[in-house]
Amino acid sequence: MDQLNPSDGGTIRRRIIELLAVEPMGARELSQSLHQTEKEIYDHLEHIGRSLKAEGRRLIIDPPVCLHCGFVFEDRRRPHPPGHCPRCRKTRIRRPRYAIGSSR
Ligand SMILES: [Zn+2]
Repeated sequence: MDQLNPSDGGTIRRRIIELLAVEPMGARELSQSLHQTEKEIYDHLEHIGRSLKAEGRRLIIDPPVCLHCGFVFEDRRRPHPPGHCPRCRKTRIRRPRYAIGSSR
């Protein structure tokens, strides 16, 4: 549907899916590989998370971890990294990584 129109981000999203199907990557790596800003990558990832469901796949988010106290951000549904830790309030967070997996 949208993969033939480069102007709407469909092509970029296809490439993100192809890259993540090979190996997990973080937003910074994706941003460098695809020449998109990290903000654009997060927007694409959010869209990918929704569209993969229709294909029986899902976006796996390797959860961010607080580097100060070890708190794991288990239940995050959105791809964006958290700004600070809810437990210790520090901002040194290991950024999430993303992969593509089966929904089963
Ligand atoms: Zn913490």
